[in-house]
Amino acid sequence: MTGVLSSRRRIFCNRTLNLRSIDAIGYDMDYTLIHYRVDEWERHAFEHVKMRLGERGWPVGELAFDQTFIRGLVIDTELGNIVKANRFGYIKRGYHGTEPISFDELRAMYSRTIVDLAESRWKFMNTFFSLSEACLYAQLVELLDARAIPEVMGYDDLYRLVRTTLDYAHVEGRLKNEVIADPDRFVAIDSDAPLALVDQKHAGKKLLLITNSDWSYTRSMMTYAFDPYLPGEMTWRELFDVVIVSARKPLFFTGQNSLFQIVSEDGLLRPTIAGIDDRGIYLGGCVDHVETYLGVAGDRILYVGDHIFGDVQVSKRIQRWRTALVVRELEDEIAHVERFAATRAELRRLMAQKELLEERLCAAKLALQRVRGGYGPGRHKDPTDLVSSRDAVRGELIALDERIAPLARASAELSNPRWGLLMRAGSDKSHLARQIERYADIYTSRVSNFLAHSPFKYFRSSPGSLPHDPAQPG
Ligand code: IMP
Ligand code: MG
Repeated sequence: MTGVLSSRRRIFCNRTLNLRSIDAIGYDMDYTLIHYRVDEWERHAFEHVKMRLGERGWPVGELAFDQTFIRGLVIDTELGNIVKANRFGYIKRGYHGTEPISFDELRAMYSRTIVDLAESRWKFMNTFFSLSEACLYAQLVELLDARAIPEVMGYDDLYRLVRTTLDYAHVEGRLKNEVIADPDRFVAIDSDAPLALVDQKHAGKKLLLITNSDWSYTRSMMTYAFDPYLPGEMTWRELFDVVIVSARKPLFFTGQNSLFQIVSEDGLLRPTIAGIDDRGIYLGGCVDHVETYLGVAGDRILYVGDHIFGDVQVSKRIQRWRTALVVRELEDEIAHVERFAATRAELRRLMAQKELLEERLCAAKLALQRVRGGYGPGRHKDPTDLVSSRDAVRGELIALDERIAPLARASAELSNPRWGLLMRAGSDKSHLARQIERYADIYTSRVSNFLAHSPFKYFRSSPGSLPHDPAQPG
């Protein structure tokens, strides 16, 4: 990727980050170094879980994967809904099963509720791997409502069962073996990603691979996605100073996992008390092993991942590692926003007019109230004049709303008619956007975007705006 950097492929900065003061960069593998064709992978996972539920006697024959849901939504395991919340946790949209919940129903259900991810009721869709889970859950909620599930359970039991069944599908082996057997079908190769890491390595950074995937899967996938695109005879094994598989993130960042060394290609393990060594391949372990090996504190380590909780939130909150989040959807999101720019400007102009009219309406109502109450400034004004000017403003507002409505609807449906933009909820930032802002120092759509940025770059955040800042001209 050369030339002018497309806005879709930029690296965005929340918190100033000087890459020169970063000694080591840790990479997550799945959906970070390696991007999958989401539709293929998730459909595949969906089918595996469906098969297992079928074996349990559930009537799942008609269930089919679709991409109704997006990352960043929240599953409400108490009411069986999937919702989108804004940055304060207020719920702005929702689905029950595969049906949208109307605005009034949503208000009736959630007027006293705020999404708080610390409560076990809410399950945040952190990664693309959550898409099959949400899709299954929604369709099974409909079966549960229709009393078609041959077991007594509530929405929360149903969620737990979907979770454990999907969890099992991920770890049991068959699903992964099918991916290994046909990587062309599942992996969306980005031939620039390996080169971005080569730049970083030559700039003196230690590179680490820290993945939850197991050794045999990691080896197959990295060989497939990296080796053909590295210079000369170099392989992915030479790229990384340390490889840690089955890392059990987020526990890796919080717990005291034992560390094992992988001493043979087929994954033979040896417990190790000596800690991490150069060029080693390890299983498990935890953040302390890495920091001891590197001999540096968390603020000199950058971790790059796609899992908002497991990769970025925990590493930042607990270890103060610097963080980069990979958000592949950004490319599409930005393209939609750019195409919508002219309409958005028109919408903003009309909203400014609306604000002025609303102010005039409020002033007219107050003036009338004072005349009728016989108090305060202007109490001697003619009430008939006031009523007619109030009614005139009302008329103008109604006409203006008619012009605003289709534009506002288009804005709300941008990128996805059901959920709108990933990073927006209503006219505010989405819950996902807030998480990214809080925990990701930088974020970008893919690892290869680093190729267009020197490994010595100083990313500077903008000062951010506050409601009381003076208005910018234009
Ligand atoms: P990473 O993103 O490189 O850390 O690896 C993600 C790994 O976690 C992949 O091997 C996924 O198959 C696996 N994974 C994703 N979701 C689940 C789950 O629900 N249970 C168990 N493993 C999962
Ligand atoms: Mg990942």
